[in-house]
Amino acid sequence: MPPEKFQWKHLYQEVVTSGLCTGCAGCVIACPHDVLGYRDDQGIYKPFQFEEGFGPDDCSHGQKGCTSCTRACPRFQMWEPEIDEFLFGRAREADEVSGVYKDIVLARASDPILHEVGQDGGLVSAILLYCLENDVIDAALVSYLEGDGSTWKAVPGVARTREDIIASAGSRYTYSANTLAYNDAIEAGAERIALVGMSCQSSVPPVMKQRKAGKVARRLSLNIGLLCSKTFDDAIFDELLDAKYGLKRAEIKKMNIKGRLQIWMHNGDYHEVPLKECHEWTREGCLMCPDFAAEHADISTGGIGAFNDWTLTVVRTDAGREVMDGMLAGGWIEVRPGDDDPGAIELMHKLAKKSRLRWPEFAVAAPRLISG
Ligand SMILES: Cc1cc2nc3c(=O)[nH]c(=O)nc-3n(C[C@H](O)[C@H](O)[C@H](O)COP(=O)(O)OP(=O)(O)OC[C@H]3O[C@@H](n4cnc5c(N)ncnc54)[C@H](O)[C@@H]3O)c2cc1C
Ligand code: SF4
Ligand code: SF4
Repeated sequence: MPPEKFQWKHLYQEVVTSGLCTGCAGCVIACPHDVLGYRDDQGIYKPFQFEEGFGPDDCSHGQKGCTSCTRACPRFQMWEPEIDEFLFGRAREADEVSGVYKDIVLARASDPILHEVGQDGGLVSAILLYCLENDVIDAALVSYLEGDGSTWKAVPGVARTREDIIASAGSRYTYSANTLAYNDAIEAGAERIALVGMSCQSSVPPVMKQRKAGKVARRLSLNIGLLCSKTFDDAIFDELLDAKYGLKRAEIKKMNIKGRLQIWMHNGDYHEVPLKECHEWTREGCLMCPDFAAEHADISTGGIGAFNDWTLTVVRTDAGREVMDGMLAGGWIEVRPGDDDPGAIELMHKLAKKSRLRWPEFAVAAPRLISG
């Protein structure tokens, strides 16, 4: 960070109101004065400043020199090269469109239940359980479905047990700012916390560490990213799936995206919706997002490729490799070389390049840098 004291006023202008804000809520959990709230209604997923007597772009603590929110924002100023430098010792090259990584493998949980409930290979769930049972973490920030699941509203929450992990497994395609479960994890005594989140959220822990955002940064000790090109506004359920296809949200059992939106119903029916029909419900925060491959996670995970029940796994850091090695040695996962599915890796790079072109010209150039 440059020496100038960047505060909420700068974040508000440069990120919150410019279209760059992803709604990752990094700023909200970093605020030591608890003056930032988070809206997740009516298609809005954004932080807001609620101090009495101050406008939306102003903060009394910012005026007095507090810089925590800008230190936690993975879209503020030179976020990408700063995080790259911190994690990998160098900025990514133009041809590293999916970010810097050590290994790409296909992996799946050996535990048949985790494999079954997982969206792809159940790798993420296996990582969380392995880390909880082997004293690597105390808790994980994940996403659940609200209530009995019939509303399909994705909500952030804490996982501390096998039951929690099973309940939170699978993918929801609306946004869940899992970072917001941080306070619940702390209140329950957690000190070493894994964050599971979309690409945008997985840049939160390292940006906080790089910019020395304090205790929160230290506690986010493992960072699992989900490959992502977009999330949808909740309105897609009523305005498209129900209105056009008669698919009631309460009757949906599972969803997936594999070139089209796939929907399995509780009564056994299966439906497909072309992705181009869904575009209208893309969440505003995704429209300029340049990061498909969760480039700053310790381990990034995706479901593209020829094998539906394996997780495409990109290992980026020493911490990520240590966890994968430990799991393999302990029989927690099965692993195959990424080269078994070269098409998946090629597709990841292609989609990563496409996302980078969304990063606007008015912002710093680095995230748009591509070649090849
Ligand atoms: C919105 C979304 C878009 C995605 N888009 C792509 C894509 O375009 N291409 C691709 O290859 N992969 C994509 N993925 C990743 C993929 O769906 C799987 O999450 C990933 O492969 C891991 O599978 P798994 O079986 O190992 O994970 P699991 O063991 O099923 O664990 C999944 C974890 O993700 C968390 N989670 C679920 N939904 C959300 C959510 N909405 N927000 C935050 N956390 C959540 C769960 O709580 C759980 O901890 C996307 C995932 C999501 C949630
Ligand atoms: S991108 Fe995240 S950290 Fe930055 S302003 Fe938006 S919610 Fe806050
Ligand atoms: S496309 Fe995915 S990673 Fe990017 S802002 Fe949207 S939810 Fe976040």
